[in-house]
Amino acid sequence: MENRWSEQEAAACVRQWGPRWGDPLALRTYASRLLGRDDRLVVHGGGNTSVKATLPDVLGRQREVLFVKGSGYDLATIDPEGHVGLELGFLRELRALPELADAVMVNTLRTHALNADAPAPSIEALLHAFLPPRYIDHSHADAILALTNRTDATDALRDALGDAVIVLPYVHPGFALAKAADAAFTAHPGCRGMVLMHHGLITWGESAEESYRATIDLVTRAEAWLEKQRKRPIIATELIEPSVARERYRAIAPWLRGLLARKADDPDRPYQRVILRVRNDRPILEFLGAPCGREVAVSPPLTTDHLIRTKPLPMWCQDPADLEAGIAAYAQAYGEYWQRHATRAAPGTIPFDPLPRVILIPHVGVVCVGADVHEADIARDITLNTLALKRLVTEGGSYVGLPEDALFDMEYFPLQTAKLGRRKPPPLARTVAVVTGAAGAIGSGVCEVLLENGAHVAATDLPGEPLDSLVRQLQSLYPKRIVGVPMDVTDPDAVHAAFASVSETWGGIDLVVINAGLAHVAPLAKLDLEDFRRVARVNVEGTLNLLTAIGPHMQLQGTGGDVVLISTKNVFAPGAQFGAYSATKAASHQLARVASLELAERGVRVNMISPDAVFSSGERRSGLWAAVGPDRMRARGLDEKGLEEYYRNRNLLKSRVTARHVGQAVLFFATRQTPTTGATIPVDGGLPDATPR
Ligand code: ZN
Repeated sequence: MENRWSEQEAAACVRQWGPRWGDPLALRTYASRLLGRDDRLVVHGGGNTSVKATLPDVLGRQREVLFVKGSGYDLATIDPEGHVGLELGFLRELRALPELADAVMVNTLRTHALNADAPAPSIEALLHAFLPPRYIDHSHADAILALTNRTDATDALRDALGDAVIVLPYVHPGFALAKAADAAFTAHPGCRGMVLMHHGLITWGESAEESYRATIDLVTRAEAWLEKQRKRPIIATELIEPSVARERYRAIAPWLRGLLARKADDPDRPYQRVILRVRNDRPILEFLGAPCGREVAVSPPLTTDHLIRTKPLPMWCQDPADLEAGIAAYAQAYGEYWQRHATRAAPGTIPFDPLPRVILIPHVGVVCVGADVHEADIARDITLNTLALKRLVTEGGSYVGLPEDALFDMEYFPLQTAKLGRRKPPPLARTVAVVTGAAGAIGSGVCEVLLENGAHVAATDLPGEPLDSLVRQLQSLYPKRIVGVPMDVTDPDAVHAAFASVSETWGGIDLVVINAGLAHVAPLAKLDLEDFRRVARVNVEGTLNLLTAIGPHMQLQGTGGDVVLISTKNVFAPGAQFGAYSATKAASHQLARVASLELAERGVRVNMISPDAVFSSGERRSGLWAAVGPDRMRARGLDEKGLEEYYRNRNLLKSRVTARHVGQAVLFFATRQTPTTGATIPVDGGLPDATPR
């Protein structure tokens, strides 16, 4: 493992942060980022670091201060502010106590922070306070865990790391671990680090560089030892191509996602959905297909730090056809596990849902589950890491994890569950939406509103720069929740392929916004049949293709869904010279009404929105108005601004209708505020002639 310390970079950090935060914290921040940058040392917010410094208080008295990572900060991107300053003198006095309840410890840490607005300190803060060295680095490094989680761990650790480290048996994190680590440190002077069995590594130093170097040195030695011990490479007996596994996954993803949705009490929102993330590259398929795959993979996690994301055990399903029974069996086993240990949980603890977070399916891949893509990705990254390490251990020894009671204690450790966050999720957090015609004015406005409300959005349109630039723009704001899927709505195969692609990305689809449309200006007497057919192909056949694909998808997924058709005011009040548009949109509107009749029994609601005169959304001009505007301007003798004014003044509310207004109407249906299907909301400022009837 590479030592990335650079004196130049360190000096730059001291120049940047030193004047405000002091040199020790500036160097602490630099070294923390070095650790965070390597996913063999730290994954997703894991690990924590500290430095001890002396600072004057408001009365000018010099005080010893512990700066320790705040809970929820990621070492890779941490700033000096991400470290909480705590009164070190007081914390050290806590060593005299025989025990300290978790809740009291958390409160004590918070009430002895220097800054009233400080984030909650890491739950391992007392470990940092009790150990004397100035700089402490704590990680859950892969290679160290590969040494501790094996039946021959004692020999392996001695052989790999020598006498330079203290080995501490597993102790539940918190006060007890801090005391045990402090006692071990005192008993073994001169050591460079401490290995915590089934947990991780602690190193220290009088400088940030010394502590960081100790981590790198020890992990490097562990890696070299592990590489040497690989004697029995794991080989799959029957290996399939990743492309075949992908096809298989696409076919079952919506069904699996439906099986993992929990029934809710709300008749308007009867399911609590999940987001799925899959990985099925060659090494994964090889491992899952190996004769020992199941035995090795279905074992406790590497470190208790991971299990709030993954549950104590993954689910194994040999044959995808057995997924439903497999999930039921997993849930039952999880319920029994809870029953076996419930008395150990704090009074009033409610068990987590019994469904798996990680599902291993040979010849398909690893599927991870979360409330949104962020959560599912954390579970997936941890799982991939875990499987690689379990494989490495098994190739030269045999893997062993923690016993069940220790897993339970950590899964229901209140300080750990607090990491999952208590913030109220946005209304569409668990929703996957497909928006057609996304690169247009209304489409992009709808995408924005859905993303702002937490949805995962597949923006679809014809391939090309308008779609690409929209996706780039939205990805800068919502990196994980927007994908661009090129799709021609007039091609049924393209629609099916797009649905499969979105299902592969997030597990399925819950909301389809049918927005792609074309306009053409000509009086009937001059309406060319080919022009009419061109408009009809998009407006009518495009809508039909989507409605045709939605039925089987929703049937397979089994959790209902929503369809919103962006209709038009012209359906109710057509415009002269606008026959092709008005007639074809009327046909699509009627198709949506029929869909509302046919899909209701599957829990799918189909509603329509009829906007009027949406000219643009930010920089995006409406394609429809690009086609229609010049003619309308000529007919009324107006310029562009004048035409917008004209449309504003013709509605009752004198409103300028925007793409975001249309997005808000989609949100109304998508969040299911009322039990409504087959209905139309006008978004037009009030046009009595165009009121739906
Ligand atoms: Zn830890």
